[in-house]
Amino acid sequence: MDYAPTIGLEIHIELKTKTKMFCDCLNDPEEKNPNQNTCPICLGHPGALPTINKKAVEAIIKVGLALDGEIAKETKFDRKNYFYPDLPKGYQISQYDKPLVSKGRLKGINITRIHLEEDTGRSVHIKEKGKEASRIDFNRSSAPLMELVTEPEFRSAKQVADFAKELQLIVRYLGIADADMEKGEMRVEANVSLNMGTKVELKNINSFKAVEKAIEYEAKRQEALIREGRKVKQETRGWDEPNKKTFSQRSKEEAHDYRYFPEPDLPMFETEIFGLENLKESLGELPGAKRHRFAQEYKLDEKDAELLVEDEKIADYFEDASSELFAEGEKEIKKESAPALYKLLFNYLTSDLRGLVNENSEYSGNYSWMEKVPPERLAHLVALISAGKITSRLAKDILKKMFATGLDPEDIMKNDNLSVSSGAELKEAIIGIIKEEAKALEDFKKGKGNAMQFLIGKTMQKLKGRGDPKQIHALLEEVLTNIKK
Ligand code: ADP
Ligand code: ZN
Ligand code: MG
Repeated sequence: MDYAPTIGLEIHIELKTKTKMFCDCLNDPEEKNPNQNTCPICLGHPGALPTINKKAVEAIIKVGLALDGEIAKETKFDRKNYFYPDLPKGYQISQYDKPLVSKGRLKGINITRIHLEEDTGRSVHIKEKGKEASRIDFNRSSAPLMELVTEPEFRSAKQVADFAKELQLIVRYLGIADADMEKGEMRVEANVSLNMGTKVELKNINSFKAVEKAIEYEAKRQEALIREGRKVKQETRGWDEPNKKTFSQRSKEEAHDYRYFPEPDLPMFETEIFGLENLKESLGELPGAKRHRFAQEYKLDEKDAELLVEDEKIADYFEDASSELFAEGEKEIKKESAPALYKLLFNYLTSDLRGLVNENSEYSGNYSWMEKVPPERLAHLVALISAGKITSRLAKDILKKMFATGLDPEDIMKNDNLSVSSGAELKEAIIGIIKEEAKALEDFKKGKGNAMQFLIGKTMQKLKGRGDPKQIHALLEEVLTNIKK
C-alpha cells in the first residue's frame, strides 16, 4: 500500500478593492472600530439590492489570465444558503456552475476554478462583566473574496507551501491583494487523503509554515489509522498551533446542502464587456518572467534572483540602481565588469543595507528607507568601490552614514575627510609603522608569513581604514625588500 498523500487546495484571498463587493461601503481591513463600514446591503436587510463591483471582477479575470485559465464568456452569481450569525442574509453570494475562471496552471498543478464571492462578517468573542459574550463586526461583511480550487495533485506539504507562496506573490504583483496569511487576508484550506482515499479538510491555518506542519501531521495520522486497520473519517479538522495537532471540528454528516440557486437580483453578464485584451496587457511582468529575466540580464544565480523578485519593490530598487551604475558620471566603469558590479550591488542591497533596515523598527513593514538611501546613491557607493576610490571596509561605514543622514556617499567622504589616501600618504604611514613595529620587522626578516598581514593591518589602522589593502601590500613589499637588502 502506498501511503503518499494526495492533496487538493481551496484558497480564499480578500481583494483590496476600494469598496465592497455589492455596495459602496469602504472595504477597509484596517478599520478598528466595529460596524463602521456597513449599509443595508452588506447588513443583509430584506429588499436591499446588490450591484456588482467591476474592479473585483477585473481582479479575478487578471488572476485567471496570469494563471493561463479560461475566462468564462458568460458568468453569473449564485446564492449559497446556510445559517450563521455572521451571515445575516442567510445566504452568501458566490458562484456555482459558471465561475469566472476555469482551468489554469501554476507550478505544475492544475487549477480547477477561480470564482468571486463575498466574505462574511466576523464573530468576536469577548468577556463582559465576567460573562462570555459574542459580538459581530460587519466591517468585513460582503468584502470581495476570490476562491481558487485546485485538482488533488499535490504530493507533499512542501509542494503545497511553494504553490501558495507563488500565488501570494502573483496576486501582490497584480496589485489586487496583500494576501497576508497572519491577517487572514489569505486562507489556505487543504484537503488531505492518502492515495485519493477518504479526504479530510484542514482549516484555520495562519501561516505557510503551519500549512506544511498541518499537512504533514495529518498525513501521518491517516497513515497510522490505516496501518491499525482503521478507517479515515471524512471530516473537517482544525489546526491547533500550540499543540501542533489537527483536531476534529465537523463530521461529514453535519455537512450542509447549500441549495445553490441563481442570484435573482444580479444579472448574468458577458466578460467581453471588461475588455479582456486590455486586461491581459495590463498584467505587467509576473514573478516567473522577472526571475528569468533577472538571471539572464544581471547574471545572477537563481537563488539571488529569487531573493530580489520575492519583493517587487526590492526588485525595482535593484533595477533602478543597476541602470544608475552606467549612467552619466559613472562612465569610467566598463561594461565588461557589469556582472561583478551587479553582484556587488546585490550584496550591498540584500545584506548590508537590509541589515541596517532590519535594525530600525521605524522601517519595519514599510519602504521609507528607500528615500534615505535612494537607488542612485547605493549605485554611487558601489561605483566608488569599483573605481578603487574607497575600500569595502570604508564603504560599510559610509553606507551606515548614508542611512543615518540621507547624504550622498561623496559628500560624506568630503565632510569626514574619508577619501582613500594618496600614494605619498600611504608611503609615509608605512615608514612610520615600520619604525614603530620593530618586532614585526624582525619577524618579517626571519621569513614569518603573518608579519606582512600584521603590518598591513597596522597601516590600515593608522589610516583609519582609508587605505587600499592591495596598494599597501605592494608598497610594503617594495619598502621591505629594500630594507632586507
Ligand atoms: P467536495 O464535493 O467534497 O467539496 P470537491 O471535489 O469539490 O469535493 O473538491 C474539493 C477539494 O478537495 C478540491 O481542492 C479537490 O482537489 C480536493 N479533493 C477532492 N478529492 C480529494 C481526495 N480524495 N484527496 C484529497 N483531496 C481531494
Ligand atoms: Zn455596505
Ligand atoms: Mg466542492
